[in-house]
Amino acid sequence: MVDKVDIKSEMLEEPILRNPVSEFIHVFPNGQEFRVERRPDDSFRIFLKAGNKVGFDFDELLPTGYKFVSEEYIEALDEPDTFWRPWFTDYRRKEIYVGDFESSKDILGLLHEIGHSKEKKEWKELFAELGTEDKLYSILIQEEMAELESRIERRAWAFALLSMRFLERNFRLDYRRIFPTSKSARDYINDDLRSYRETYESLIQDDPSFEEELKFLFDKGR
Ligand SMILES: [Zn+2]
Repeated sequence: MVDKVDIKSEMLEEPILRNPVSEFIHVFPNGQEFRVERRPDDSFRIFLKAGNKVGFDFDELLPTGYKFVSEEYIEALDEPDTFWRPWFTDYRRKEIYVGDFESSKDILGLLHEIGHSKEKKEWKELFAELGTEDKLYSILIQEEMAELESRIERRAWAFALLSMRFLERNFRLDYRRIFPTSKSARDYINDDLRSYRETYESLIQDDPSFEEELKFLFDKGR
């Protein structure tokens, strides 16, 4: 019976933060660990660990050239047009800015950002047209961008859900310990959209790909 998720373990710093480079560790009841570790260059290595072995490296989900980086990594660059914000995917630099993990639920948020790293073509096309002199055309492009943004958000969440399923099937990631019900996953996603993108609060409703993934994740294949 799982009606309460054990996410307390990651708050107890003493027993788990033995390794000084570990930023976040979540230990699942099956013994598997989700770990975020800081490298000497302030980028992150994010992986699942079973026993003494790395079971899955999240780098494997990234397109070629991408990496996970911290605020310190970006600050050390000292580039005036590059500024840090948590949970953001920089297409230009091929970097995912990893924010603080407040709980194991943020694994889904991380997968969402990885989903963003898969997108770039449509953005590039629109941005290329944005600087046009034609005022009306500019407005149309902006509307199109808002639509595109909501589509991209939905796709990134669908990717995140699909990845959860993939990680469970192939690497025994027990995601039900994090999200015991489809409602809990939906609430997390809704909260995220509310806090970062109020305009798109309802965007995941009535979206077939999102709904399908949610259904697969919680209703099928068990
Ligand atoms: Zn997003």
